[in-house]
Amino acid sequence: MSGAAKPGLMPVEEALQRLLERADATPIAGRERVALADADGRVLAEPLVATLDLPPWDNSAMDGYALCLADWQGTPLVVSQRVQAGEAPGALQPGTCARIFTGAPVPAGADTVEMQENVAVEEDGRVRFTAPLRIGQNIRPQGQETRVGECVLPAGTRLGPIELGLAASLGQATLTVSKRARVAVLSTGDELVEPGQPLAAGQIYNSNRRLLIAWLKRLGCDVVDAGILADDMAQTRAALAALSDVDLILSTGGVSVGEADFLGVALREAGELTLWKLAIKPGKPLTFGQFRGVPVIGLPGNPASTLVTFGLLARPYLLRRMGVQRVAPLAVDLPAGFAWRKAGLRREYLRARLEDGRVVPYANQSSGVLRSAAWAEGLAEVREGTTLEEGDRLRFIPLSELLN
Ligand code: AMP
Ligand code: MG
Repeated sequence: MSGAAKPGLMPVEEALQRLLERADATPIAGRERVALADADGRVLAEPLVATLDLPPWDNSAMDGYALCLADWQGTPLVVSQRVQAGEAPGALQPGTCARIFTGAPVPAGADTVEMQENVAVEEDGRVRFTAPLRIGQNIRPQGQETRVGECVLPAGTRLGPIELGLAASLGQATLTVSKRARVAVLSTGDELVEPGQPLAAGQIYNSNRRLLIAWLKRLGCDVVDAGILADDMAQTRAALAALSDVDLILSTGGVSVGEADFLGVALREAGELTLWKLAIKPGKPLTFGQFRGVPVIGLPGNPASTLVTFGLLARPYLLRRMGVQRVAPLAVDLPAGFAWRKAGLRREYLRARLEDGRVVPYANQSSGVLRSAAWAEGLAEVREGTTLEEGDRLRFIPLSELLN
Protein backbone atom coordinates (compact mmCIF):
# COMPACT_ATOMS: atom_id res chain seq x y z
CA MET A 1 0.00 0.00 0.00
CA SER A 2 1.32 3.47 -0.71
CA GLY A 3 0.10 7.04 -0.67
CA ALA A 4 1.27 10.63 -0.67
CA ALA A 5 2.95 12.82 1.91
CA LYS A 6 0.81 14.79 4.29
CA PRO A 7 -0.26 18.11 2.77
CA GLY A 8 2.06 20.82 4.01
CA LEU A 9 5.04 18.54 4.26
CA MET A 10 7.49 18.74 1.41
CA PRO A 11 8.35 15.38 -0.19
CA VAL A 12 12.03 14.47 -0.03
CA GLU A 13 12.34 14.46 -3.84
CA GLU A 14 11.04 17.99 -4.06
CA ALA A 15 13.46 19.29 -1.45
CA LEU A 16 16.32 17.53 -3.22
CA GLN A 17 15.30 18.91 -6.59
CA ARG A 18 15.15 22.46 -5.22
CA LEU A 19 18.53 22.08 -3.57
CA LEU A 20 20.09 20.75 -6.77
CA GLU A 21 18.58 23.56 -8.83
CA ARG A 22 20.13 26.05 -6.45
CA ALA A 23 23.42 24.17 -6.55
CA ASP A 24 23.43 24.24 -10.36
CA ALA A 25 22.89 27.99 -10.21
CA THR A 26 25.73 28.55 -7.72
CA PRO A 27 28.65 26.31 -8.72
CA ILE A 28 31.88 26.65 -6.74
CA ALA A 29 33.97 28.98 -8.88
CA GLY A 30 37.46 28.09 -9.96
CA ARG A 31 39.49 25.09 -10.91
CA GLU A 32 43.02 23.99 -10.31
CA ARG A 33 45.54 21.62 -11.80
CA VAL A 34 46.64 18.97 -9.30
CA ALA A 35 49.07 16.07 -9.43
CA LEU A 36 47.44 12.65 -9.66
CA ALA A 37 48.78 11.94 -6.18
CA ASP A 38 46.61 14.78 -4.84
CA ALA A 39 43.53 14.16 -6.96
CA ASP A 40 41.79 11.44 -4.93
CA GLY A 41 38.29 12.60 -3.99
CA ARG A 42 38.40 15.66 -6.22
CA VAL A 43 35.97 16.43 -9.04
CA LEU A 44 37.17 16.49 -12.62
CA ALA A 45 36.54 19.98 -14.02
CA GLU A 46 37.14 19.14 -17.68
CA PRO A 47 36.72 15.92 -19.62
CA LEU A 48 39.65 13.54 -19.66
CA VAL A 49 40.35 12.96 -23.33
CA ALA A 50 42.68 10.17 -24.43
CA THR A 51 45.89 11.45 -26.02
CA LEU A 52 46.97 7.96 -27.01
CA ASP A 53 45.44 4.66 -27.99
CA LEU A 54 45.11 2.13 -25.19
CA PRO A 55 46.77 -0.24 -25.56
CA PRO A 56 49.13 1.72 -27.82
CA TRP A 57 49.91 -1.38 -29.92
CA ASP A 58 48.67 -4.96 -30.33
CA ASN A 59 50.06 -7.01 -27.47
CA SER A 60 49.99 -10.52 -26.20
CA ALA A 61 47.47 -11.56 -23.55
CA MET A 62 49.47 -14.72 -22.79
CA ASP A 63 52.90 -16.19 -22.41
CA GLY A 64 53.21 -18.20 -25.61
CA TYR A 65 54.11 -18.04 -29.28
CA ALA A 66 53.10 -15.57 -31.97
CA LEU A 67 52.65 -16.70 -35.54
CA CYS A 68 51.03 -15.69 -38.79
CA LEU A 69 48.09 -18.06 -38.90
CA ALA A 70 47.01 -16.79 -42.30
CA ASP A 71 50.22 -18.25 -43.83
CA TRP A 72 50.70 -21.27 -41.59
CA GLN A 73 50.91 -24.73 -43.21
CA GLY A 74 50.28 -26.71 -40.03
CA THR A 75 53.93 -27.71 -39.58
CA PRO A 76 56.13 -27.09 -36.53
CA LEU A 77 57.72 -23.64 -36.61
CA VAL A 78 61.22 -22.37 -35.85
CA VAL A 79 61.34 -19.72 -33.12
CA SER A 80 62.97 -16.72 -34.79
CA GLN A 81 62.81 -14.17 -31.97
CA ARG A 82 61.93 -13.65 -28.33
CA VAL A 83 59.83 -10.67 -27.24
CA GLN A 84 59.40 -9.66 -23.64
CA ALA A 85 57.23 -6.88 -22.22
CA GLY A 86 59.11 -3.62 -22.67
CA GLU A 87 60.84 -4.70 -25.89
CA ALA A 88 60.13 -3.48 -29.40
CA PRO A 89 60.19 -6.50 -31.73
CA GLY A 90 61.19 -6.59 -35.38
CA ALA A 91 58.77 -7.93 -38.00
CA LEU A 92 58.08 -11.66 -37.86
CA GLN A 93 60.24 -13.62 -40.29
CA PRO A 94 57.88 -15.46 -42.67
CA GLY A 95 57.42 -19.15 -41.84
CA THR A 96 58.58 -18.77 -38.23
CA CYS A 97 57.04 -17.95 -34.89
CA ALA A 98 58.13 -15.67 -32.04
CA ARG A 99 58.41 -16.56 -28.38
CA ILE A 100 56.27 -13.90 -26.68
CA PHE A 101 55.28 -12.92 -23.15
CA THR A 102 52.21 -11.23 -21.66
CA GLY A 103 52.10 -7.53 -22.44
CA ALA A 104 54.80 -7.71 -25.12
CA PRO A 105 54.08 -6.08 -28.48
CA VAL A 106 53.01 -8.52 -31.18
CA PRO A 107 55.59 -8.47 -34.00
CA ALA A 108 54.38 -7.01 -37.29
CA GLY A 109 53.24 -9.87 -39.52
CA ALA A 110 51.99 -12.06 -36.65
CA ASP A 111 48.22 -12.32 -36.31
CA THR A 112 47.76 -14.94 -33.58
CA VAL A 113 49.21 -15.95 -30.22
CA GLU A 114 49.00 -19.45 -28.82
CA MET A 115 49.49 -19.97 -25.12
CA GLN A 116 52.51 -21.99 -24.12
CA GLU A 117 50.32 -24.66 -22.50
CA ASN A 118 49.08 -25.65 -25.99
CA VAL A 119 52.51 -25.90 -27.53
CA ALA A 120 55.02 -28.79 -27.62
CA VAL A 121 58.67 -27.89 -28.12
CA GLU A 122 60.42 -30.51 -30.31
CA GLU A 123 63.97 -31.71 -29.73
CA ASP A 124 65.29 -29.44 -32.49
CA GLY A 125 63.63 -26.44 -30.79
CA ARG A 126 60.77 -26.05 -33.27
CA VAL A 127 57.29 -25.70 -31.75
CA ARG A 128 54.27 -27.76 -32.60
CA PHE A 129 50.79 -26.36 -32.01
CA THR A 130 48.64 -29.01 -30.37
CA ALA A 131 45.22 -27.27 -30.30
CA PRO A 132 43.09 -25.63 -32.98
CA LEU A 133 44.01 -21.99 -33.60
CA ARG A 134 41.81 -19.00 -34.36
CA ILE A 135 43.07 -15.83 -36.02
CA GLY A 136 43.54 -13.00 -33.53
CA GLN A 137 43.37 -15.18 -30.45
CA ASN A 138 45.20 -14.01 -27.35
CA ILE A 139 45.96 -10.62 -28.90
CA ARG A 140 44.80 -7.46 -27.16
CA PRO A 141 44.31 -5.15 -30.12
CA GLN A 142 45.57 -1.59 -30.19
CA GLY A 143 42.88 0.82 -29.01
CA GLN A 144 40.58 -1.82 -27.57
CA GLU A 145 40.21 0.20 -24.37
CA THR A 146 40.24 3.65 -25.92
CA ARG A 147 41.21 5.53 -29.04
CA VAL A 148 42.97 8.90 -29.22
CA GLY A 149 40.40 11.70 -28.88
CA GLU A 150 37.81 9.67 -27.00
CA CYS A 151 36.36 11.18 -23.83
CA VAL A 152 37.30 8.67 -21.16
CA LEU A 153 35.89 10.51 -18.13
CA PRO A 154 33.35 13.32 -18.41
CA ALA A 155 33.68 16.57 -16.48
CA GLY A 156 31.94 16.20 -13.14
CA THR A 157 33.39 12.76 -12.42
CA ARG A 158 34.45 12.20 -8.82
CA LEU A 159 37.96 10.89 -8.86
CA GLY A 160 38.80 7.79 -6.89
CA PRO A 161 41.40 5.06 -7.09
CA ILE A 162 39.96 3.66 -10.33
CA GLU A 163 39.83 7.00 -12.14
CA LEU A 164 43.36 7.81 -10.98
CA GLY A 165 44.56 4.48 -12.33
CA LEU A 166 42.83 5.15 -15.61
CA ALA A 167 44.29 8.66 -15.91
CA ALA A 168 47.72 7.22 -15.17
CA SER A 169 47.29 4.57 -17.88
CA LEU A 170 46.77 7.43 -20.31
CA GLY A 171 49.94 9.11 -19.18
CA GLN A 172 48.27 12.01 -17.36
CA ALA A 173 50.46 13.34 -14.54
CA THR A 174 48.00 16.05 -13.53
CA LEU A 175 44.27 16.66 -13.76
CA THR A 176 42.12 19.78 -13.73
CA VAL A 177 39.70 19.66 -10.83
CA SER A 178 37.06 21.95 -9.35
CA LYS A 179 38.01 23.99 -6.32
CA ARG A 180 36.96 22.45 -3.03
CA ALA A 181 33.84 23.87 -1.44
CA ARG A 182 34.66 25.79 1.72
CA VAL A 183 32.10 24.82 4.30
CA ALA A 184 31.69 26.28 7.78
CA VAL A 185 30.31 23.97 10.44
CA LEU A 186 28.39 25.55 13.30
CA SER A 187 26.87 23.65 16.18
CA THR A 188 24.13 25.62 17.91
CA GLY A 189 22.89 24.94 21.39
CA ASP A 190 23.50 26.20 24.92
CA GLU A 191 23.57 22.61 26.09
CA LEU A 192 26.59 21.62 24.00
CA VAL A 193 30.04 20.91 25.37
CA GLU A 194 33.06 19.56 23.57
CA PRO A 195 34.44 16.13 24.41
CA GLY A 196 37.27 16.41 26.89
CA GLN A 197 35.41 19.01 28.94
CA PRO A 198 33.51 18.13 32.11
CA LEU A 199 29.78 17.77 31.67
CA ALA A 200 27.65 19.97 33.91
CA ALA A 201 24.01 19.33 34.68
CA GLY A 202 21.84 19.72 31.59
CA GLN A 203 24.74 19.56 29.17
CA ILE A 204 25.50 17.04 26.43
CA TYR A 205 28.53 16.47 24.29
CA ASN A 206 28.57 17.90 20.80
CA SER A 207 28.45 14.96 18.41
CA ASN A 208 27.36 16.69 15.22
CA ARG A 209 30.48 18.76 14.88
CA ARG A 210 32.78 15.75 14.65
CA LEU A 211 30.33 13.84 12.50
CA LEU A 212 29.93 16.60 9.95
CA ILE A 213 33.54 17.74 9.82
CA ALA A 214 34.83 14.24 9.16
CA TRP A 215 32.12 13.64 6.59
CA LEU A 216 32.69 16.92 4.76
CA LYS A 217 36.38 16.15 4.47
CA ARG A 218 35.55 12.82 2.89
CA LEU A 219 33.42 14.67 0.37
CA GLY A 220 36.42 16.76 -0.61
CA CYS A 221 35.36 19.96 1.15
CA ASP A 222 37.57 22.41 3.02
CA VAL A 223 36.09 22.78 6.48
CA VAL A 224 35.99 25.89 8.61
CA ASP A 225 35.30 24.71 12.12
CA ALA A 226 33.15 27.44 13.60
CA GLY A 227 32.67 25.64 16.90
CA ILE A 228 29.70 25.90 19.19
CA LEU A 229 27.27 28.78 18.92
CA ALA A 230 25.24 29.71 21.96
CA ASP A 231 21.50 30.22 21.65
CA ASP A 232 21.88 33.97 21.57
CA MET A 233 20.84 36.53 18.98
CA ALA A 234 23.91 38.77 19.06
CA GLN A 235 26.31 35.84 18.95
CA THR A 236 24.40 34.27 16.09
CA ARG A 237 24.58 37.46 14.02
CA ALA A 238 28.27 37.88 14.79
CA ALA A 239 29.09 34.26 14.00
CA LEU A 240 27.30 34.36 10.66
CA ALA A 241 28.88 37.70 9.74
CA ALA A 242 32.35 36.28 10.44
CA LEU A 243 31.78 33.53 7.88
CA SER A 244 31.45 35.75 4.84
CA ASP A 245 34.17 33.94 2.89
CA VAL A 246 32.72 30.43 2.82
CA ASP A 247 30.67 28.68 0.16
CA LEU A 248 28.21 27.25 2.66
CA ILE A 249 27.37 27.66 6.31
CA LEU A 250 26.17 24.35 7.67
CA SER A 251 24.62 24.58 11.08
CA THR A 252 22.88 22.06 13.26
CA GLY A 253 20.21 22.58 15.86
CA GLY A 254 17.82 25.41 16.47
CA VAL A 255 15.69 24.85 13.40
CA SER A 256 12.62 23.43 15.04
CA VAL A 257 10.82 26.79 15.14
CA GLY A 258 11.39 26.75 18.88
CA GLU A 259 12.00 29.86 20.87
CA ALA A 260 15.72 29.40 20.41
CA ASP A 261 15.54 29.71 16.62
CA PHE A 262 18.14 32.44 16.39
CA LEU A 263 19.47 31.23 13.08
CA GLY A 264 16.07 31.76 11.50
CA VAL A 265 15.77 35.27 12.88
CA ALA A 266 19.26 36.21 11.70
CA LEU A 267 18.57 34.93 8.20
CA ARG A 268 15.28 36.76 8.04
CA GLU A 269 17.01 39.99 9.02
CA ALA A 270 19.98 39.85 6.71
CA GLY A 271 19.33 37.34 4.02
CA GLU A 272 16.69 34.84 3.18
CA LEU A 273 15.01 32.19 5.26
CA THR A 274 13.20 29.23 3.85
CA LEU A 275 11.97 26.82 6.45
CA TRP A 276 10.99 23.49 5.12
CA LYS A 277 8.91 20.92 6.87
CA LEU A 278 10.01 17.78 5.14
CA ALA A 279 8.12 14.54 4.85
CA ILE A 280 11.15 12.80 6.27
CA LYS A 281 11.81 10.97 9.49
CA PRO A 282 14.08 11.57 11.21
CA GLY A 283 14.68 15.19 10.30
CA LYS A 284 11.48 17.07 9.58
CA PRO A 285 12.64 20.70 9.93
CA LEU A 286 15.31 22.04 7.60
CA THR A 287 16.44 25.60 6.94
CA PHE A 288 17.69 26.59 3.54
CA GLY A 289 18.53 30.21 3.04
CA GLN A 290 21.35 32.70 2.87
CA PHE A 291 23.03 35.24 5.09
CA ARG A 292 24.39 38.28 3.21
CA GLY A 293 24.64 36.12 0.12
CA VAL A 294 26.29 33.11 1.76
CA PRO A 295 24.13 29.98 1.43
CA VAL A 296 23.07 28.47 4.74
CA ILE A 297 21.71 25.03 5.45
CA GLY A 298 20.38 24.47 8.94
CA LEU A 299 20.03 20.80 9.81
CA PRO A 300 17.97 19.51 12.70
CA GLY A 301 20.08 18.94 15.78
CA ASN A 302 19.29 15.39 16.75
CA PRO A 303 22.28 13.37 15.60
CA ALA A 304 20.34 10.79 13.59
CA SER A 305 18.38 13.63 11.95
CA THR A 306 21.62 15.42 11.14
CA LEU A 307 22.93 12.23 9.60
CA VAL A 308 19.89 11.53 7.45
CA THR A 309 19.31 15.09 6.24
CA PHE A 310 22.98 15.68 5.55
CA GLY A 311 23.33 12.39 3.71
CA LEU A 312 20.22 12.66 1.60
CA LEU A 313 20.03 16.42 1.00
CA ALA A 314 23.12 18.42 1.94
CA ARG A 315 25.57 15.88 0.53
CA PRO A 316 24.14 15.85 -3.00
CA TYR A 317 23.74 19.64 -2.86
CA LEU A 318 27.40 20.12 -1.98
CA LEU A 319 28.66 17.59 -4.49
CA ARG A 320 26.62 19.24 -7.20
CA ARG A 321 28.03 22.64 -6.32
CA MET A 322 31.47 21.12 -6.85
CA GLY A 323 30.31 19.99 -10.28
CA VAL A 324 29.49 16.34 -9.64
CA GLN A 325 26.79 15.19 -12.02
CA ARG A 326 25.83 11.82 -10.56
CA VAL A 327 25.02 12.69 -6.97
CA ALA A 328 22.41 10.04 -6.23
CA PRO A 329 23.68 7.24 -4.00
CA LEU A 330 23.43 3.73 -5.34
CA ALA A 331 20.45 2.02 -3.74
CA VAL A 332 19.19 -1.53 -3.94
CA ASP A 333 15.78 -3.13 -3.47
CA LEU A 334 15.91 -5.77 -0.78
CA PRO A 335 13.35 -7.85 1.12
CA ALA A 336 12.26 -6.52 4.48
CA GLY A 337 13.06 -8.65 7.48
CA PHE A 338 10.31 -6.86 9.40
CA ALA A 339 6.69 -5.81 9.04
CA TRP A 340 5.54 -2.18 8.97
CA ARG A 341 1.88 -2.03 9.79
CA LYS A 342 1.20 1.65 10.36
CA ALA A 343 1.56 3.82 7.27
CA GLY A 344 3.38 7.05 8.14
CA LEU A 345 2.93 10.60 6.91
CA ARG A 346 6.67 11.02 6.51
CA ARG A 347 9.19 8.90 4.65
CA GLU A 348 11.19 6.99 7.20
CA TYR A 349 14.85 6.24 6.90
CA LEU A 350 15.46 3.40 9.27
CA ARG A 351 18.99 2.71 10.33
CA ALA A 352 19.21 -0.91 9.30
CA ARG A 353 21.55 -3.72 8.40
CA LEU A 354 21.36 -6.90 6.37
CA GLU A 355 20.81 -10.21 8.07
CA ASP A 356 20.48 -13.28 5.83
CA GLY A 357 19.82 -10.97 2.88
CA ARG A 358 16.95 -9.19 4.63
CA VAL A 359 16.77 -5.65 5.94
CA VAL A 360 16.61 -5.49 9.73
CA PRO A 361 16.17 -2.15 11.50
CA TYR A 362 17.92 -1.18 14.72
CA ALA A 363 15.51 -1.61 17.62
CA ASN A 364 15.60 2.03 18.74
CA GLN A 365 14.95 4.44 15.87
CA SER A 366 14.82 7.57 18.03
CA SER A 367 16.37 10.53 16.23
CA GLY A 368 18.58 11.13 19.22
CA VAL A 369 20.21 7.72 18.99
CA LEU A 370 23.31 7.85 16.83
CA ARG A 371 24.24 4.36 17.91
CA SER A 372 21.52 3.14 15.56
CA ALA A 373 23.59 4.36 12.64
CA ALA A 374 26.85 2.96 13.98
CA TRP A 375 25.15 -0.45 14.13
CA ALA A 376 23.55 0.01 10.72
CA GLU A 377 24.92 -0.69 7.27
CA GLY A 378 22.44 1.51 5.49
CA LEU A 379 19.23 3.51 5.47
CA ALA A 380 16.10 1.51 4.72
CA GLU A 381 13.45 3.64 3.08
CA VAL A 382 9.84 3.17 4.11
CA ARG A 383 7.90 5.52 1.90
CA GLU A 384 5.16 7.72 3.26
CA GLY A 385 1.73 6.12 3.24
CA THR A 386 3.22 2.66 2.94
CA THR A 387 2.85 -0.53 4.92
CA LEU A 388 5.11 -3.54 4.54
CA GLU A 389 4.86 -7.24 5.18
CA GLU A 390 7.96 -9.24 5.87
CA GLY A 391 9.51 -10.15 2.53
CA ASP A 392 8.17 -7.05 0.73
CA ARG A 393 10.94 -5.17 -1.00
CA LEU A 394 12.19 -1.78 0.06
CA ARG A 395 14.99 0.55 -0.98
CA PHE A 396 18.21 0.22 0.96
CA ILE A 397 20.88 2.91 0.67
CA PRO A 398 24.23 1.63 1.95
CA LEU A 399 25.88 4.07 4.34
CA SER A 400 29.10 3.47 2.45
CA GLU A 401 27.44 5.19 -0.52
CA LEU A 402 26.55 8.24 1.51
CA LEU A 403 29.68 8.58 3.57
CA ASN A 404 31.98 9.37 0.70
P1 AMP B 1 17.40 21.57 18.35
O1 AMP B 1 17.17 21.37 16.89
O2 AMP B 1 18.40 22.63 18.65
O3 AMP B 1 16.11 21.79 19.07
O4 AMP B 1 18.01 20.23 18.88
C1 AMP B 1 17.29 19.02 18.84
C2 AMP B 1 17.95 17.99 19.71
O5 AMP B 1 19.24 17.68 19.21
C3 AMP B 1 18.16 18.42 21.13
O6 AMP B 1 17.96 17.32 21.98
C4 AMP B 1 19.60 18.84 21.16
O7 AMP B 1 20.19 18.76 22.43
C5 AMP B 1 20.22 17.87 20.21
N1 AMP B 1 21.41 18.44 19.58
C6 AMP B 1 21.46 19.62 18.95
N2 AMP B 1 22.70 19.85 18.47
C7 AMP B 1 23.45 18.78 18.84
C8 AMP B 1 24.81 18.43 18.66
N3 AMP B 1 25.65 19.24 17.99
N4 AMP B 1 25.24 17.25 19.16
C9 AMP B 1 24.39 16.45 19.82
N5 AMP B 1 23.09 16.72 20.00
C10 AMP B 1 22.62 17.88 19.54
MG1 MG C 1 19.11 23.72 20.08
